[in-house]
Amino acid sequence: MQDNTSRRAILRTGLMAAAGATLAAGAARAQDEKIAQELVQYQNQPKEGQQCNKCAQWVEPNACKIVAGVIVPQGYCVAYAPKEG
Ligand code: SF4
Repeated sequence: MQDNTSRRAILRTGLMAAAGATLAAGAARAQDEKIAQELVQYQNQPKEGQQCNKCAQWVEPNACKIVAGVIVPQGYCVAYAPKEG
C-alpha cells in the first residue's frame, strides 16, 4: 500500500516537472517568435505621423509585442496599428 502511494507521488512529481519544463520552453519560444524588423520594413523614423509609441503593439521603453529587437518610440513599421482612444 505504501509502495503504491510513494510510486504515485514520484509519478506526480515527475509529471509536474515535465509540465514545468514544457511551459518554460513555450515561454522561450514565444520570445523567439517575434517578427524580424526587416520583414515588417521597420525604420527609425515616423511615417506620416504614425510612430511606434502611438501603436497598439508598443511596449515602453523600447520594445514591441510583435517585432523583435530594440524599437525606438519614433520608429514605424508596416504592422502599425493605432492605439484605441
Ligand atoms: S509600428 Fe511596428 S514596430 Fe512599431 S510598435 Fe507598431 S508593430 Fe511594433
